[in-house]
Amino acid sequence: MAIREIITAPDPRLKEISKPVDRVDDGLRALMDDMLETMYAAPGIGLAAVQVGVPKQVIVIDLARDGEPPAPRYFVNPEIRWASDDTAIYEEGCLSVPDMYEEVERPARCRVRYLDYQGEIREEDCDDLLATCLQHEMDHLKGVLFIDHLSRVKRSMMLKKLIKQKKLQEKEPA
Ligand code: ZN
Repeated sequence: MAIREIITAPDPRLKEISKPVDRVDDGLRALMDDMLETMYAAPGIGLAAVQVGVPKQVIVIDLARDGEPPAPRYFVNPEIRWASDDTAIYEEGCLSVPDMYEEVERPARCRVRYLDYQGEIREEDCDDLLATCLQHEMDHLKGVLFIDHLSRVKRSMMLKKLIKQKKLQEKEPA
């Protein structure tokens, strides 16, 4: 396993449309293992492959709280089969939008079909944080960031901050 570099916005690679995976094999599982390790190290609760520069429809999520055992979840080629009309608002953050949090409104519940770590087809009803997190990660597969859900004014303010952060990082390389 290896920690990969997380791409931060703005970056054209985050706008790429992720392609479906042909099959879940050892190579893909190695990618998922790396993504999980990268997410834990960040730390974060969800990561899409495109955030580490691999535009494939692969997502890892772990919503275990501090002190709880890890509960990694893998979603390959996820597809929303149904979404509720009622919505929920969560304050979202993103490993590709460091240190910024804003409230986003999304369907409160959804049903998702996907392939798991073993390549088995699964269908699952999601609610609460899982529904929100999954929809956030699935946005990444379409090249969409949570800041794209905000008003134009708010988004451009955040983008300015992100550009400033990047310039500072370039001046003092890690
Ligand atoms: Zn994200």
